[in-house]
Amino acid sequence: MSVVLPIVQLGDPVLRGTCRALTKPELEKKKMRDLIEAMRDTMRAAPGVGLAAPQIGLPWRLAVIEDREETQEGIEPELLEERERAAVPFHVIVNPELEVIDAEPVSFFEGCLSLTGFVGLVPRAHAVRVRCLDEKGDPRVIDASGWYARILQHEIDHLNGTVYVDRMLTRTFMSGEQYARYWADKDVEQVARDLGV
Ligand code: ZN
Repeated sequence: MSVVLPIVQLGDPVLRGTCRALTKPELEKKKMRDLIEAMRDTMRAAPGVGLAAPQIGLPWRLAVIEDREETQEGIEPELLEERERAAVPFHVIVNPELEVIDAEPVSFFEGCLSLTGFVGLVPRAHAVRVRCLDEKGDPRVIDASGWYARILQHEIDHLNGTVYVDRMLTRTFMSGEQYARYWADKDVEQVARDLGV
C-alpha cells in the first residue's frame, strides 16, 4: 500500500532551518525504511523528481530522487536534450556534501513541491559531485551534470534551508499557468531578454 504524506509549504519554519545528519544505526531502523518508501510514494504521487525530508516536516539530511521516463513523457525530445535531462533511477541521498565540478551557470525554469503553482528561472552549476550515504548507510559518490545536477542542487539546498526562490532571477517568477501560456515554448535566452534579465 502506498502512503502519501502531506508536503509542507513555504512559510513552515522547517523549510528554513538547517537539517541534522543521520547515523547508520538510524538508517537501519525499520521505521526509517518505511519513511523512505513513503517519501518515494509521495514524490511519485505529486509528481516530482525529488523530495527532501524537511518537505515532509523532518529536519534530517535525507532526500529521495527519481526522474522517471513516465514523468518525461509529453515533454518534447528537443527540450529534454536542451536540458540534458535523462532518466535517473530511484535513489536516496543521506548527509550529502556537494562539490561543484563545472561552475558554468545554466538557467532553466524550476518549480518546487513546497511552493506549488509557481516557477522561476534558476541558474545552477552545470556539473557537481555529491559524496553521501545511501539508504543502507554505505558511502556513495555521484557525478552528475545537466538536469540531474540541477535536481541534486535543489534537494541539497532544502537540507540547508534554501529554496529556489532564493536563487532565481526574480523577474522570471510566475505562475505555472502563465508559464505554460506565454513562455514554455520559448528558449531560455529569449525568455531572459523578454523579461529583462
Ligand atoms: Zn523543492
